[in-house]
Amino acid sequence: MSKTLRIAALAGDGIGPEVMREAIKVLRVAEKKFALSLQITAAAVGWAGIDEAGKALPDATLELCKKSDAILFGSVGLPDRDPTIPKEERPERAALLRLRKEFSLFANLRPVRLSRALAHACPLQADRQGDGIDILVVRELTGGMYFGQPKKTEDLGDGKRRAIDTMVYTTPEIERIAHVGFRAARSRRKRLTSIDKANVLENGILWREVVTQVGKEYPDVALEHMFVDNGAMQLMLRPTQFDVMLCENMFGDILSDEAAALAGSLGMLPSASLGTTSGELTFGVYEPAGGTAPDIAGKNLANPLAQILSAAMMLEFSFGEQKAATAIHDAVARVIDDGLRTGDIYSATDPKAKKVGTQEMGTAVAAAISG
Ligand code: NAD
Repeated sequence: MSKTLRIAALAGDGIGPEVMREAIKVLRVAEKKFALSLQITAAAVGWAGIDEAGKALPDATLELCKKSDAILFGSVGLPDRDPTIPKEERPERAALLRLRKEFSLFANLRPVRLSRALAHACPLQADRQGDGIDILVVRELTGGMYFGQPKKTEDLGDGKRRAIDTMVYTTPEIERIAHVGFRAARSRRKRLTSIDKANVLENGILWREVVTQVGKEYPDVALEHMFVDNGAMQLMLRPTQFDVMLCENMFGDILSDEAAALAGSLGMLPSASLGTTSGELTFGVYEPAGGTAPDIAGKNLANPLAQILSAAMMLEFSFGEQKAATAIHDAVARVIDDGLRTGDIYSATDPKAKKVGTQEMGTAVAAAISG
């Protein structure tokens, strides 16, 4: 039996608990099959945290996270309750943003996969989808325009104002995210497209120079540079050309959402936010790209695959358990190939499609791993 891996499971609100249950079901099967030792401890977050302990991120939950090797997060926030409390106490800000800050999560990974079987869910014509889309957007999460100082709005008099945001990157910040991108490319198709605006921005010039330098340590990965405006266009024209897209914070924010649209449903999109590495473990928060989906919560309608794939990313990126992660990916691919569909990815025109609920989907993935 390998070292015990400590996971804080924070399901949160809305569909969070339903999809988390399925992810844990799948993790338990992977644990058995690959002789892992997972210590999974649940704790309240979001409105569940406010109801239980008066805070979106209760002290006990934060303590648990600090003692854990990774956090598997559901989603938080309820549109009918959020406006009833001050902004800074609302779940997304008080829990999720707080966790990102507390654990210095500097790298955001958003994989976008679209198999041929789900071609109908993608807004692009089938002939632009090739044999399927498989892109990993790696976004820097703590620097750039969103955090640079000065950041303020000045009064110029005469009813005029001026807003200032500052884009700042240092070489160590660029180096560390570049390493994350190159390492990820190495375990994929070994292509990395670095996105910048080197034709206009000083930051873009530095970004390009540093990424090129770091790339010399990864001679097996093909590096290309692309201006962000062209990158946005190429994602729509020929998304199959991309393997890993490496972006600074703001460009990554925008392009990861554009890329996400290609997958057809939020219910298919996992994500990882990585922090520091100590020894063989990298701390990270793993969560679906979507929110709490109150419109379908509690009805066994939510697609649990984004949460299940987030758990697979945790095994890969925090724990280095590549085989177990691949087994989960393969199991998800198999149930999709077999025609299982939650409502968000169902098409009545697909003769193979069989509509299933949240639990049935999770059970099918778990069975596909052990089978
Ligand atoms: P949402 O992502 O919750 O829902 C948007 C649409 O996508 C809905 O129609 C929903 O049914 C669908 N959807 C999302 N996940 C799905 C899944 N797994 N399976 C099937 N369908 C799915 O976004 P929203 O409605 O704008 O936000 C609802 C709440 O979630 C808000 O309170 C918002 O603040 C919060 N939110 C939280 C996070 C987070 O915790 N990371 C992220 C986004 C939104």
